[in-house]
Formats: sequence, C-alpha cells, structure tokens
Amino acid sequence: MMIRKGEIGVSTSNIFPIIKKFLYSDHEIFVREIVSNAVDAIQKMKTLADVGDYKGELGDLAVRVAIDKKKKTLTVSDRGIGMTAEEVDKYINQIALSSANDFLEQYKENANAIIGHFGLGFYSSFMVSKRVEIITKSYQDEAPAVKWACDGSPEFTMEEVEKSDRGTDIVLHMDEEHVEYLEEAKIEALLNKYCKFLPVPIVFGKKREWKEGKMVDTDEDNVINQTEPLWKKQPAGLKDDDYLQFYRDLYPHSFTEEPMFWIHLNVDYPFHLTGILYFPKIKSNLDLQRDKIQLYCNQVFVTDSVEGIVPEFLTLLHGVIDSPDIPLNVSRSYLQSDNNVKKISNHITKKVADRLEELFKKDRALYEEKWESLKLFVEYGMLTEERFVDRAMKFLLLKNSEGNYFTLDEYKTLVEASQENKEGELLFLYSDDLEEQHTPVSAAKEKGYDVLLMDGQLDVHWMGLLERKREKTRFVRVDSDTVEHLIEKGEATKVELTDEQQEILGEAVKAVLPPIEKTEFSVEFKALGEQGVPVQITRNEFSRRMKEMAAMQQQMAFYGEMPDMCQVVLNVDDPRLKTWMTENENVEKEKVVEKAKNDDRLKQMIDLALLSSGMLKGEALSDFVKRNFETI
Ligand code: ADP
Repeated sequence: MMIRKGEIGVSTSNIFPIIKKFLYSDHEIFVREIVSNAVDAIQKMKTLADVGDYKGELGDLAVRVAIDKKKKTLTVSDRGIGMTAEEVDKYINQIALSSANDFLEQYKENANAIIGHFGLGFYSSFMVSKRVEIITKSYQDEAPAVKWACDGSPEFTMEEVEKSDRGTDIVLHMDEEHVEYLEEAKIEALLNKYCKFLPVPIVFGKKREWKEGKMVDTDEDNVINQTEPLWKKQPAGLKDDDYLQFYRDLYPHSFTEEPMFWIHLNVDYPFHLTGILYFPKIKSNLDLQRDKIQLYCNQVFVTDSVEGIVPEFLTLLHGVIDSPDIPLNVSRSYLQSDNNVKKISNHITKKVADRLEELFKKDRALYEEKWESLKLFVEYGMLTEERFVDRAMKFLLLKNSEGNYFTLDEYKTLVEASQENKEGELLFLYSDDLEEQHTPVSAAKEKGYDVLLMDGQLDVHWMGLLERKREKTRFVRVDSDTVEHLIEKGEATKVELTDEQQEILGEAVKAVLPPIEKTEFSVEFKALGEQGVPVQITRNEFSRRMKEMAAMQQQMAFYGEMPDMCQVVLNVDDPRLKTWMTENENVEKEKVVEKAKNDDRLKQMIDLALLSSGMLKGEALSDFVKRNFETI
C-alpha cells in the first residue's frame, strides 16, 4: 500500500546534484555513515532494553553488510530500533537546507564538514547510488514496516511492506561509475578502515578457509571489528603485550618497528578524550613519519590527518585519539581556534611531557639508550611548541664526542670551570662531524675542553633556541676559530707585523690557494706561539650557521646562495713563516706573488691546512699527492 509520495524537504531545489558535485573527493565515506547509523540504531535498542522500556528479546545485534553482484546492490542491515513511517518522514524526508549553497561553496573540499553540518550522513549514499531503499520496521510492535525509495531526484516513494524482523535494511543500488563498491575486497578494505573499532560486531560474509585447493566459506561470521578496542579499556589491567599487539592491529600493513613506549589517554573532564599514543623510533626524515595518528569519534574512524588537532610535533607519534568533543564539521583553520581542540591539544602535550619526564627520572640508562630516537621528536617539539620548551629543558640530553649524555645543567657543571670566556659567557664547543673535524676536535680536547656532538637534522635550530633560553651560553663549532681563540680568556697576543708585511703575505697565500667552488677566503694573522699550527682554516660561527639554517628554510634561501666564508689563519710566530718573511723582505710586491706560486713550502702548508679541514679535493688533492710522492 502506498503511504505517500512527496518531495524531500529541501529549500534548495535539489540536494542530489550538490551532494554529487561537491562531495566527490570522499565518496567512500558513505560506508562509514551508513554503517554507523546502523550501529546507532542498535545502541539505542540496547539502551531501551537496559532502562526497561523494551522487554522483548534483543537477539543478534550485529550489523550485516552484503553485496549482491547480480542486483548490483550493497545492503547494510541491522536489528536496531528501526523507524515508523512517521519517523522516516521526520528523519529522512525533512532535511532543512537553508542557505545551503553558501555553505557548500565554502566547504566544498571538506565532505566531513558538510555531512556533519547537515546531518546528511544517510544522504551520502547518493554519492554512489542511483537508487536507495530503506526497508525498516520499528521495534514498536504495532508499527507496520515501510519501504522508502528514492532514485536521486527530490521525489521519493513510501509504501507499507512485509518485514518479519525489526530493524533496518539500507539497500544501495550502485550507479555505473561506482561498481567498484560491489567488489568484496574493496568493501572489506573500507570496513577495515572506517569500522574496525565500532562497538557492535560488523559482519561481512563468512570467514573463509583453504579446503581441497580452494578458498571456501566456513559457517563462521566474518566479523570485521574489535568491539572493545584497547584504548577504551582501563589501563590498570593491561600488559605491555596488549599494547604491542594493538599497535600491530592498528598498522597491519606497515613494517613499522615496535614502538618504544606509549601513553594511554583517559580524560572525562572538561572534555572527553581516550586514546593511546605510541612513540615510534624516529630516525630521520620528518615528513615520511607524519600523519599516522588515527582520529576517532566514538570509535568511528574519522581521519588519519590530525594536523590542526594536535600540535605539529605530536603528529610524529602513532596511535589513536578518540573524542566526541572535536568538532569535525568545521574547517581545519577554524579547528585551531576552537576551545575544546586547544584544551585537548594542550592536554596531550602535557601528557607527553609527563611521560618523557617520568621515563627520564625512572630509568636514566634506558632513557639514554632511547635518546637517539627521541631526540628529533623532543627538538621538534621544542622548536614548534612554546609550552613544551620549559618542560623539555628538564629531560633533554646533550651528547658529547665521547658518547656521554648530560642534561643542560649537568653539562654546565662539567664545563663551567674551563670554558667560560672573559665576558663571562659559557661556551659549549661542538662538532657536527667528528671525522671531518678530527683535527680541531682533538686540539680542543688536548686543551682540556669538552666537545659536544651536534650532528642531528634540527641541531642548528635547536642550538639557537637553547642560546635564547639560556643567558650567557653560546654554542661554537670547534673549527670556528683557532683553538687558542675559541674561548677568549684574556687579551690576545699582539701580532708584530707591519701592514705592508701583512699585505704581502696575504697576497702570497691567496695566490697559492687552489680555487674552491662557492668558497671565499680571507687571511687572518694571529700570534699563536712557536708551537702553534702554522696555517689553519676556520669558519666563522655566525655566517656558517645562517647558511645552514637557510638550507632548511624557504624564506632564507638568500643566505643559502652565499659562498662559504672561510678564514686562513696564519700563525706569525711560526718559524717557517718567519723565515719566509725574511726571505721575501726585499722582493718587490708584484714579484712576491709570482714567486709564491712556485713556492712549494708555502703550498705545502696551505694544502695541509685545507686537508685537515676536509677541503682539499679534486685536482688540488691530486697535485698535492703527486708533489709529495716526488719528495720521497
Ligand atoms: P545523523 O545520523 O547525523 O542524524 P543521518 O542522515 O545519517 O543523520 O540520519 C538521519 C536519521 O535517520 C538518524 O538520526 C536516525 O534517526 C535515522 N536513521 C538513519 N539510519 C537508521 C537506521 N539504520 N536505523 C534507524 N534509524 C536510522
């Protein structure tokens, strides 16, 4: 019996073209919407029984998803509360879409926003179907079953039908462009993505087994989901193995190593938040590791791109966050200003800091062992999240060239006595390549200094941050000056050369220096004593660091184009250089340069300086080797 024919109550003339047009990017989410409606209906049924408003049997409370390839349908069935004809009218037919066009225009890229805003969950089925039927029977005994059908125009039909059981079947007749959703593998994958942790069993066909050379159905239902995911359980009863197993369940397809440790989140007030965050072993390449946290809303998967919801550095973590208090129907940029999101994000940051501090205090040795994997994460957090900085100051570690770890305070105590300059600044010496900078590193150590190893991706930026946070503390690379001058403790010894002598020697050195691409040299004179190195190369800390930072930042690309600025430092106390000066005292300036080009001693000294800075390469290196063999 036909109950009624009518037009769906939308103020815009036709909602379907809009749905199809604007929601193109995320067609697959219809699966999530239809299945979670079924779950809701079942949950309501359970609640009714719990409070005693329903006294009949509950029976099988699974959602069943089935494909019929011949009929080209996908059907989602539940034995939930069902709907009466009036309810179908109210919940399905009357969809208010005032000022819909404006809104849709604004959020056309964001299907979640549109669906959330209008409660259009059910209508998302029209993104993939040419016809949709609802066959439903309310749990209320006297209500007859109804069949609602609509073929994608604003007209629908509603008629009474026979249906023995309570609950709802949603039948989607796939349109030609979306026959892919009639493939079992496709639907199974989507169910796994969106419905893996829904609170009632989602059944898709039967479990299969290998029998007599082929795969056959067993009698057992193929349940897709874990109805009680780990994050919903009380942490007290859980073991390490449970967390590790859950991690594998979350990322079944990746070959991710075991996580180092985890945090179980469980907040009831002032917002609801549950979840588990795992610390993976982070090695390098920040980008590749991002966006692995899965966001759920009451166990329904929403997205795995959580930027805007958690602070950027936390996107390096893995795991799940589940909160009904994160508004999904707004744009990403709006999210950041939402109060709940801010609170949630701050809470998570705090929990992460708590956890790291706890590990640090509880088992220092283990913490040190994990530091290499934690470092990038902690640095990134400090550089991007102001409120993480003060917390991290307590558990960040510095590693020295001997492989020992120190907190900032510990390190200060270690070097205080020997590495303070005459201005009262504490200088932390570091190397970013112990092999390449072996000469200056060992010179610094011989002088009784300690040298840090700063070879991480973010170290340059991190050192800058630490300098800003710690007054009177500076980082200087071991080769930024001669070892005698790295930490100035008193007045430097005066250089006793006339301007003219300096000019001549300077010109001679420049004439002998082999050309090195993108590198400019200036010549400096220092009195380093007779035992001091005759010639060495240094690189000014400031300009070098600017360049390194530029390499990572677009706005500073200008610095990146600049040549490397190096200094050739000549020790005027060196006997060999002194002899050179005497020999060339009366030679005309122009001739000195000519002469220098054939001066093997000068060449030798400069090449050795370049060699110990790792800068003697290519033809200059071949020449050097050849010249030296000849002298043997
Ligand atoms: P939302 O779920 O956001 O309310 P939908 O468009 O998805 O919006 O659904 C509208 C309403 O239709 C639901 O609130 C519910 O009352 C009803 N409904 C949808 N699917 C079912 C179902 N399987 N069983 C019972 N009621 C349903």
